[in-house]
Amino acid sequence: MRPSKRLERIPPYAFAQLERKISEKRAAGVDVISLGIGDPDRPTPPLIVEAMQEAVSEPETHQYPTNRGREDFRGAVRDFYERRFDVKLDPGNEIIPALGAKEAIFNLSLAFLDPDDYALAADPGYPVYTSGPWLAGAEPVLMALQPEHGFVPDLGAIDEDIAHRSKLMFLNYPNNPTGAVVPDGFFDRVVEFARAYEILVVHDNAYSEIVFDGYHAPSFLQTPGAKEVGIEVFSLSKGYNMTGWRCGVLVGNAEALETYWRLKTNIDSGLFEAVQLAGVAALSPDADVEVASMSELYRRRRDLVCEALHKIGVSVRPPHSTIYVWAPVPEGFASSEAYCEHVLERTGVVLTPGAVYGPAGEGWFRISLTTPDERLLEAVERLGTLGD
Ligand SMILES: *Cc1c(COP(=O)(O)O)cnc(C)c1O
Repeated sequence: MRPSKRLERIPPYAFAQLERKISEKRAAGVDVISLGIGDPDRPTPPLIVEAMQEAVSEPETHQYPTNRGREDFRGAVRDFYERRFDVKLDPGNEIIPALGAKEAIFNLSLAFLDPDDYALAADPGYPVYTSGPWLAGAEPVLMALQPEHGFVPDLGAIDEDIAHRSKLMFLNYPNNPTGAVVPDGFFDRVVEFARAYEILVVHDNAYSEIVFDGYHAPSFLQTPGAKEVGIEVFSLSKGYNMTGWRCGVLVGNAEALETYWRLKTNIDSGLFEAVQLAGVAALSPDADVEVASMSELYRRRRDLVCEALHKIGVSVRPPHSTIYVWAPVPEGFASSEAYCEHVLERTGVVLTPGAVYGPAGEGWFRISLTTPDERLLEAVERLGTLGD
């Protein structure tokens, strides 16, 4: 059997080495605590689960959904975007459901990229910004997120020829893995750049609902002109504890959404209508209090982790959003992977090496705040012993 050349281009799974180490440790009886994976530990709020239970018992939800999405689902997204971001969307052609953000991001590469096309991808970044273009036969071009500029890429440093050959740009704020929020004015510069080079901007908005310290995360579509050059992928996974449900939505430029829809009708058969109805409940104002209490939980955990890191001499700026703390690797380690191995060896705590998110992630590591409180406390205590 021979896998396709497209598939062969995907680099080997970055976590493989670490996973092997973890299973060795566990086999040797070590109580390993993973702070590696970004998957909310708390259950989906009851009002969403109840909406699903009701919906799934209605036979009308049991048939093929339309790829366009139910009218009530698109209406709920329109209302949410207006209430939350003051963005007006036409449910007729500017809203389409997705089977999670990952599906949408991947399929956008297939819908827009030909071999030899380029796609600009944030580095460090969500792995599908590079694997999507590769699987489409195209080339991802990494844009390093610069810590000194608040973890945004320097658009002015992008080579003219590369910019002309680029058809997509993948961005994500609030950002995974750095926890950064978008600096004032950056989205305006993105719109200008996208206009100049005719690039479709894909803004991955997976974390806007997890915010602390009074911060409100904007939608990219709030930026003047954004809808002419871009789309936003909104996911219910992280903010609503719904990673298993596969519920997301693509909003923005109507022509881009039409192209995505044309591709998608050939690939999947739409989002289960009962999940769409659960999504309606999630996006209603009734769920706001649940979402706010999750942010409060992550804020507490963020503070615990930042304090523990401070104690061992690792200085971090506490993030205003996301479920991650991004921290510099202490002096004296050859790489982020070497440091994470050292920590695992000494404490049984799993951290993620920054380099797995791209070359610009080297020199950093990521801690996810999605571990239940007692286990997180235990992990934090063990990290404290590293300074001894
Ligand atoms: C978790 C995550 C996703 C995936 O979201 P799904 O809706 O579960 O597919 C996409 N982008 C980023 C940046 C993420 O962290």
